[in-house]
Amino acid sequence: MAAPLVGVAVKAGKALAATVSPSSILRFGIILIMIPLTLVLVFIIPISMILTVPNVDTSDINLYKTVVAKINTEKSVQLQFQQLIAIDAALNDQIFTDVSESTIKTLANKFLWSEEKTEEYKETEYYQVEESKLNPVTKKMEKVKVTKSKEVTKTRTVTVWHVYPLDTVLNSLISEGKIIDKQEVLNYMSVDVNYFEMQTLDLPDNWTPGGTGEYEWPTPGYFGLDAIFGMRIHPIKKIAKFHNGLDIDAPMGAPIVSSKDGLVTRASYAGDSGNSIVIINLDKTENRYLHLSSYKVKKGDVVKKGEIIGYVGSTGLSTGPHLHYEIRIKGNPTNPLDYFR
Ligand SMILES: [Zn+2]
Repeated sequence: MAAPLVGVAVKAGKALAATVSPSSILRFGIILIMIPLTLVLVFIIPISMILTVPNVDTSDINLYKTVVAKINTEKSVQLQFQQLIAIDAALNDQIFTDVSESTIKTLANKFLWSEEKTEEYKETEYYQVEESKLNPVTKKMEKVKVTKSKEVTKTRTVTVWHVYPLDTVLNSLISEGKIIDKQEVLNYMSVDVNYFEMQTLDLPDNWTPGGTGEYEWPTPGYFGLDAIFGMRIHPIKKIAKFHNGLDIDAPMGAPIVSSKDGLVTRASYAGDSGNSIVIINLDKTENRYLHLSSYKVKKGDVVKKGEIIGYVGSTGLSTGPHLHYEIRIKGNPTNPLDYFR
């Protein structure tokens, strides 16, 4: 990537020496800016993206959440579990295997401080008085005991808990001799780890697509899912990204059928999507089939529901053979599972 750019820069330099016109100076200037900019875009941005994602899975996150929620309730504070995850990611060099309830509590305690405060509170006191009342039977005045109440103000001591700012905790860890890079911790916090919690697949192992039959399942005989619709950490890019469809686990070369009657509007390679087929169905809904190994249809073809349109592959940005399958309604990706169960 860098070599041709250097070549261009050298050529531009020679051109500059030959004719020093304002336009060639401008062109040379643009090239000078483009080289470092390209290097930044190509190398530095992907590296920083990978570094910002804590290496936690859903069970790790749930452990942090549970422990922190318990502390927050007990001490009535608002400790943020994301901060603890970010610190542990930096302290433990991204290894979360030794994290337990007690290590999380120990770290949480570094955020907490308390003070004793006296507070006023009201209490109702009851007392009895004697009053004279007319007895309606004897028609005489009699002394009776009557219970009355009054509000009294009292004081008591209470423990009030507070949370230190993140920076204070980081400074105290550093002063304890813990090797910690503040910026690294902040980087780990730039991704909302709530996104890590992919919706769990509540499908049984022998699940088969059902539903109304409006859409035909695109990979006959293959129903396993690698990823479902929703927020997830991209398996290759390692960044939080919305997953627009289903990743159906199917072997290389397995046939893919059209979900509905429609018109093929695309059957070509498309970057990260690999070999892609887009079909606009007769009812104006849209299906997308990505990462194919090969096509059986071409742009402009009219297809029938259930007709083979191509074959499963792993082209584009993909970790192995699977079909990425989308249903779009009015252009918006919709959860395909809604139509199959
Ligand atoms: Zn996918």
